[in-house]
Order: sequence, then C-alpha cells, then structure tokens
Amino acid sequence: MSQQHKDLIDRDRKVTFHASTHLRDFAHGDAPGRVITGGKGIHIVDKDGREFIDGFAGLYCVNIGYGRTEVAEAIYQQALELSYYHTYVGHSNEPQIALSEKILALAGPGMSKVYYGMSGSDANETQLKIVRYYNNVRGLPQKKKVISRMRGYHGSGIASGSLTGLKAFHDHFDLPIDTIRHTEAPFYYQRAAELEGMSEHEFSKHCARKLEEMILAEGPDTVAAFIGEPVLGTGGIVPPPEGYWTEIQAVLAKYDILLIADEVVCGFGRIGADFGSHYYGIKPDLITVAKGLTSAYQPLSGVIVGDRVWRVLEQGTGEYGPIGHGWTYSGHALGCAAGLANLAIIEREGLTANAAETGAYLQQQMQAAFGDHPVVGNVRGVGMLAALEFSVDPTRRQHFDAAHKVGPRIAAAALDENLIARAMPQGDILGFAPPLTTTRAEVDEIVARARRAVDKVT
Ligand code: PLP
Repeated sequence: MSQQHKDLIDRDRKVTFHASTHLRDFAHGDAPGRVITGGKGIHIVDKDGREFIDGFAGLYCVNIGYGRTEVAEAIYQQALELSYYHTYVGHSNEPQIALSEKILALAGPGMSKVYYGMSGSDANETQLKIVRYYNNVRGLPQKKKVISRMRGYHGSGIASGSLTGLKAFHDHFDLPIDTIRHTEAPFYYQRAAELEGMSEHEFSKHCARKLEEMILAEGPDTVAAFIGEPVLGTGGIVPPPEGYWTEIQAVLAKYDILLIADEVVCGFGRIGADFGSHYYGIKPDLITVAKGLTSAYQPLSGVIVGDRVWRVLEQGTGEYGPIGHGWTYSGHALGCAAGLANLAIIEREGLTANAAETGAYLQQQMQAAFGDHPVVGNVRGVGMLAALEFSVDPTRRQHFDAAHKVGPRIAAAALDENLIARAMPQGDILGFAPPLTTTRAEVDEIVARARRAVDKVT
C-alpha cells in the first residue's frame, strides 16, 4: 500500500465513526482500512489503483454497476433545474411523480401510493408507523405487535433494528423494543439436522405452525403485521423453503394481519423478477424498497402502500387532519431523478432478465465448483444472489468452531484474489451479489477466484 494511501487512512482513523466496524481497533490502527476512489462496471478501484471485482455490488445495491454516466447526467441536470424542494402539504417535483408512476407500474395491481425516504431503515420505520395508524383508525388500538423472523434484516434504527432478528444488532442497545416478536427463520439447511427427515415443504408448514402458535399466544387481536424479506438476505442469503410463502400467507389472512414484504434487496431485478414478491407469489399489503431503486447513485427508499391500507390512511386523515409523518428529504428530486435513470437502464438493458439467465449460470457454476467441496455444506441462491455455507463435515452439517471464523478468513483470502465477497454477519457464510450487469465470463472469474480463496484457507 502506498504512503499516500496509508496517510489518508490515518486521517480517516482520527475523524470517522465507521459503520459495522471494530471502533477501537480501527481508531488505533489495528484493523485495516481502504479508500475507494473509483468504479466501472463490476469493478472498484482503491487509492493505489488496485482493482477488485465487486462480487457484492457494494451492499447488494449497485445493481447497474459503477460509473454510469447516464445516471450522473440525470442527477446533474436535475440539480441545475431544481436540486430540492420539500414535498410537504402536496408539493411535488417532476421526477417524483414519474418515479412513483414507474414503481407502481412495476409493482402491479393492488398497490396505490409511494412514500419516499432515504434508507431501508427509515422506510421500515415508516412501515411501523403506518401499521399503528392503520389499526388506530380502525378502532383496534391494541393491535400493534409486529412479527419478524429470526435472522431477518430490516435495518439499524430503534424500531427497524428491533425488526432485525440478528443478535449483534440488539446486544448492548437494549433492543428489541417490546412490540416486536421474532418467529422461526425459514432456514431449512440449518434446521434440517434437528428436524430429522422433514421435507422442505413440511418445514414450511412447521414455520407456519410456529407463527400461528405465536399469534395465538400473543392474542390475534394484538398482532398487527408480519414482515419478511422474500429471500432472507443479511441473515445468510437463504431462499425460502418450498411452499413457505403460501403457508405463511394463509396464517396471516386467518388473523387479519398485514404483510410487509421487505424488498430492499430483492426489488428491481436482483433475483430475476421485478420483485421477490412476484417470484414467490407473495401478495403484500405494504412493500419496502431501497438499494436497487437507485442502484445507490443516490440514497433513496420507498414504502409502497397497497389499496387496503391506503383507504384507511385516507379515512384517518379525514378524521384527524394531515398525517404527522414526514422527512425533510422525502421525495428528494435528485434521488428521484437517479431512480428514474436507473430504472430506465434496467429496462433498456434487460437487466432483470440477465439476473434470471446469468443468475442461473452463476448458481450452476457455484454448484459445479463447490457442490462436493469437502468444507462446503450448502451452496444456495437464486438469481444474482448466492451463498456458500462452510462446514467441517458437510455430511453431518457440523459447523466450524466459532473461534475459527472461517467465513471472514475466506473473505480475506478472496480479497487477496482481488474479489470482494461478503462474510455474512452470522455463521460461516460467504455471500455473493454481483451487479445485475454481470456477464457469464465475469461469473467464471468470480467463481474461479472464490474457489482459490476457499482452497487456500481450508
Ligand atoms: N431491509 C433489508 C432487507 C436490507 O437488506 C437492508 C440493508 O441491508 C435494510 C432493510 C436497511 O437498509 P439501509 O441500510 O438502507 O437502512
């Protein structure tokens, strides 16, 4: 690493509080840093000009790849015309209107309006407020609890972090808050050894049974909503077991419980469909979107509100007056302009179809390289989302000693190969989510580098 690069990192150590970082080690120079200066296609470049394949598209968000002039131009032009004006009390801007029309057209029938935020976390805060308001207007003030899943990821705020079902996001923050519950994770691979002989579909029924037991124990008149990612993301990149969403939705319908689909990762093509909900036949009342909405060219998120909920929100403001919810940056003109340019690229270049086709190739090549690897217990994924789960003895699904931290070590070895893959926060799981522009040749390169990294460590 060059002296210039080291100096920059040293300056950073003194002044920046980094996300998901060992604060003391970083501040004292005991944990590595890196300054990223550029990106093109599926590659990023650091201060020394070292080029990496970004096999995780940032944090599974740079779906159209880096360095898209068209999006930069759209942001620039919008900034020249109108950088910002608030969207309170009916004010709007042209990109917001066009983007809402586009999102609703993609989401399909039954979806009514879009509310904008800046991140997936704040969008899920909005979801929780909507759910509370909805049941207050309906005269059901006791119906407030929200059920999420263990290993679900829904953000890092007080409420969104409570929805998240990962211990590391709760510990020492006194989370979760008391209206949130977590039910069984739809993680067939990890539970199959315990639940001897259960088929995938039987496991889905088991998950639905567990959910119903929880609803009955809490009291159905106290449970307002269920939230889930179509494919469990940060909790391990786990596609749902067969029949899962059908079984879950049947339970929710029985007890008048809203369904929130958190499409922050799946939305806008990641798994080869416009939404994960379309792929799995999910009929949500509310949808959360972020990441792929702008491919991270601007921070922008959205809550898509279905007709059933929208009617009640309208009724509520008829009774109580304007809704007491708003962010300064809601419907930010630059974010919406970036969103429109991004969605235009996805459509024109057929990136959702590429995520399906090249994504299928990615799954196939991952299986070929790791399917019978001595330390890989499970190779899984859908579209442009894939994961390897490591195991000391794959046949017995036996995990590595926690101290071994094989996932992070393999991620570090991949970095030596100039490949970024993500050691998922729980378990020995390595995640892949390359941009949706990734070609077959680039898939071959990702898989070859990953294989060298796995072989080096294990
Ligand atoms: N929901 C899901 C499914 C996510 O994966 C994430 C982030 O990874 C979030 C919500 C939170 O989004 P943000 O980090 O933009 O707040």
